[in-house]
Amino acid sequence: MTDLVFIGPPGAGKGTQAQRLCARLGVPQVSTGDMLRAARKMGTELGRAADDYMARGALVPDDVVIGLVHERLALPDAATGFVLDGFPRTVPQAKSLDRLLGRISRKIEHVVLLEVPDALIVERITGRRVGETTGRIYHIKYDPPPFPDRGEGGERLLTRADDTDEVVRSRLAAYSAQTAPLVAYYTNHGLLRRVDGVGAVDDVTMALFRSIGIT
Ligand code: ADP
Ligand code: AMP
Repeated sequence: MTDLVFIGPPGAGKGTQAQRLCARLGVPQVSTGDMLRAARKMGTELGRAADDYMARGALVPDDVVIGLVHERLALPDAATGFVLDGFPRTVPQAKSLDRLLGRISRKIEHVVLLEVPDALIVERITGRRVGETTGRIYHIKYDPPPFPDRGEGGERLLTRADDTDEVVRSRLAAYSAQTAPLVAYYTNHGLLRRVDGVGAVDDVTMALFRSIGIT
């Protein structure tokens, strides 16, 4: 069983590294941000409930996100493990995840904290592009797509609506106020693995794999 969690500020590289780790381990990436964006795009009730919070860079209420994750982790592909990316983001979310896993005799193996200083975050986020069909994450400068506005296979590249200078500042404030307390929470549980998220993407991947015992 490989049950892993990524935490770190917005734009730290959680999605980028989670995609690589999942490919290596053969377990699904569970990104609450991706799930909420899909719900918004489809215009579901959940998507409408999350819409305003996401546009402002605030966290969506715990009960909404917790319900989503509980349903997702019950699907068969998560039976042998998962990499959670962007969840939990509050202490109540972390406690609810512990309870959920405890009920099925599972527990988190590692919590990876990707550390990147605020000064680098805005540039990372405003340069982010995401493949429309594959969800592959690029950066116009640090991980450039093969064509100026197309990804591999010619897919269109999207810029997230909340990846603006202004909204990033709210997202960073939400991180400090609501998510940073998870560092103490998971340190106390003996699960926290700190990984320096500054440096080339491949180097961060190597440091990440080392931190969780993958050679
Ligand atoms: P998160 O999921 O934590 O919000 P992403 O994985 O989407 O972050 O990364 C945010 C942006 O930073 C993307 O454009 C990505 O290509 C870029 N990025 C990721 N890792 C690095 C790195 N080590 N160095 C420079 N840019 C990076
Ligand atoms: P992300 O894709 O992880 O950057 O998340 C984008 C946005 O989705 C966040 O700014 C929040 O509004 C919302 N979101 C994602 N995950 C969570 C979560 N675990 N709790 C609350 N809101 C979330």
